[in-house]
Order: sequence, then C-alpha cells, then structure tokens
Amino acid sequence: CGIVGYVGDRDAAEVLIKGLKRLEYRGYDSAGIAIMNGELNIQKGKGKVANLDKKVLENSVKGHIGIGHTRWATHGEPNDVNSHPHLSESGKVAVVHNGIIENYGSLKRSLTEKGRTFKSMTDTEIIAQLIEEIYTTSKNVTFEEAIRLTLKQIVGTYGLAIVNLDSPEKIYIARKGSPLLLGVGDNEMFIASDASPIVEYTNKVVYLDDGEMAVVERDGYEVKTIDDVSLTKEVHELAISL
Ligand code: GLU
Repeated sequence: CGIVGYVGDRDAAEVLIKGLKRLEYRGYDSAGIAIMNGELNIQKGKGKVANLDKKVLENSVKGHIGIGHTRWATHGEPNDVNSHPHLSESGKVAVVHNGIIENYGSLKRSLTEKGRTFKSMTDTEIIAQLIEEIYTTSKNVTFEEAIRLTLKQIVGTYGLAIVNLDSPEKIYIARKGSPLLLGVGDNEMFIASDASPIVEYTNKVVYLDDGEMAVVERDGYEVKTIDDVSLTKEVHELAISL
C-alpha cells in the first residue's frame, strides 16, 4: 500500500515513521520498517504506525538507511508475520512491496524444492527469496542483476524497495503498475509511493515509470530500465512551499 525509504545523515527510523504517518490516509492494516546498520533491524506488526513508533523507540533502532511499508493485505491475512518488510532466508535481504505477484505460487514451489523455507503467506516473500537464490547460486551476478533477473520472472504489479546487507549504502527500487518517486536532497535521498512523505524535506523529485529501477545512495541515484539501459530522468520541482 505505502512505501518509504531514506538514506542520509538523519535518524532513518524517525524519517520512515514520519513518512508512514503521512501515508496513513491511504488505509492499511500493518506497518513495518527495516533499518540497516551492520545488521538488519526489522520492526513490524499488525496495527497502527503509532504502535510501530513505540516499538522503534523501545528498541532504540538507530541507523541512517532504511525502508518502510504500510500494508493493505492481498495475499495472507493481516498479522505480524505477514507484515512487511520480508526477509530472504539468510536474513540479509529485506523487501517492501506494493502490488500483487500473480505467479507467486509456482515460484514458491520451485524455491521450496531448492530448499528454501518460507515464513509468511504473502506473495511478497518470494521476491526476497528469489533475489537471494539468484544472487547466491549464479556466478558473476551482482545484486543489482539478481534483482533484474527476478523482475523478469515475476508476473504482476510492484512498487519495490530492497536493501541488502552486502551493499550497506544502497537502496534498490523498481516500479511496475504501482507508483514510486525519489526525493533528491543535499547528500540525502528519499523514496516514497507518493509525494506526501517527501515534501517537507525537498521539492526536487524524480518519478519512476513502469519498467524502471534505480539504485539509490545518499549522494546520487542511477535509473535504468529493467533491461539494463541507463536513463537520464527529469528532475521535477514540486510547487509546494517548504
Ligand atoms: N501483496 C502484498 C501483500 O499482501 C502487498 C500488499 C500491499 O500493496 O500493501 O502483502
């Protein structure tokens, strides 16, 4: 339903929680964040962003890069386990997802045959698992390529934000049928599924189009098609006073 992401000098958990609150108007049943700081700290569960906020404060979740999600369940009931972010089996890859993966059943079966175990009933979890399966079993495949190869296999709609402990400075995003944009700051970058979480920080935004992905770091971003063609995207100035 709603996606946020942040990399920069600020307290990432604080930016993400604030952003998720801005996305609450869209409706949701669960909320969660992943903060990357040498390890992946996941806080998530059924219920309000305010509950998540409490958990985050209690567990003093600190870091400067992370992703967050408000879920409106389509596959798997609203509960703590089915909340996003979802992790790969090793726990090194975290994914938040808007949309529906239509062929998740067959992908889940083939990943299960390869020995992977699943924790949730969601369509989303297969994305984290398939990326990791490709990344760890293919020779000379970068993490970015593993994402690209995964996107080629999945059928359906997605707005995606992905982090990987092996690339601790990067957030990967991709879009097909579910909106995503980047907020370009000064040595910091914001990601969201609509502009509302971003406008208080920057009025410079880049809209991802369907079939595009991006690698986002604090000092820049690179947008490509999912066929690996580099793109120069227009930076829009939002007409909103900060
Ligand atoms: N299909 C995913 C799920 O049920 C994502 C739903 C959403 O867009 O929030 O977990």
